[in-house]
Amino acid sequence: VAVERGARLASRDARAEDTSFTVGTVRIGGGGLVVCAGPCAVESEEQILSVARFLRGVGADLLRGGAYKPRTSPYSFRGLGREGLLLLARAREATGLPVVTEAIDEESLELCEQHADVVQIGARNMQNFALLRRAGRGKLPVFLKRGMSATLDELLLSAEHVLNEGNPRVILCERGIRTFSTHSRYTLDLSVVPAAQEATHLPIFVDPSHATGKSRRVASMALAAAAAGAAGVMLEVHPRPGEAMSDGSQAMAPAAFASLVSELRAIASIRTTATETLR
Ligand code: PEP
Ligand code: MN
Repeated sequence: VAVERGARLASRDARAEDTSFTVGTVRIGGGGLVVCAGPCAVESEEQILSVARFLRGVGADLLRGGAYKPRTSPYSFRGLGREGLLLLARAREATGLPVVTEAIDEESLELCEQHADVVQIGARNMQNFALLRRAGRGKLPVFLKRGMSATLDELLLSAEHVLNEGNPRVILCERGIRTFSTHSRYTLDLSVVPAAQEATHLPIFVDPSHATGKSRRVASMALAAAAAGAAGVMLEVHPRPGEAMSDGSQAMAPAAFASLVSELRAIASIRTTATETLR
């Protein structure tokens, strides 16, 4: 019975080699470290274009930004919607950076498919099975974030819903879980990286921005994720963090992000050498 409930397609048993695919010219899951960065939410044309140009300049691989924001409070900024998607498409045009953005329901997913390159399903929707299955019938790779109280097995079963509908391009993302710890927004479960690599062939990213909730703690956890062998990191960067309309306290300022990227590249190159030596 346990076997019947397990993730068949997502499991390492189903496929020994790592899943790897490209988004634009960016290879995901091929052993390199992918840096996905951008603001929590798209706020204006000036904001997204300036941050995208900056990110391109310092060597980020993918641009993130929410047009549809799932918010705990109904009074918080919920994103620019379709207008936000159009601004993201403009930022991609200006920089060449492929766009990762979140869909919160089937309607926004359809619009994401028209304007973005990767569709994110966020922590709060990790078990929205209708949405997962719709993404599984869609044509975009899916960036699937771990629910804040979900186990690795549950994350893999959510990925299984996408794979099972015929879409093999799923990226998993650890973004922190709820524990008794109160020093940080969530607890970054970094040991899920090697655990996921044993259990599945799908690439796993780490998002230390939502996990720590504090911009000054993001760099150390991003570097730790790179050292742990994550396929990529997702980082929130805002041109003026103090003015951000969502998640400002965890947004890195451009200068801090620029130095983090060079440190991440240095760690990734050591990691590649180490892996080659092990072979
Ligand atoms: C986000 O990426 O902005 C986001 C809402 O993330 P999560 O679903 O992990 O909270
Ligand atoms: Mn956010």
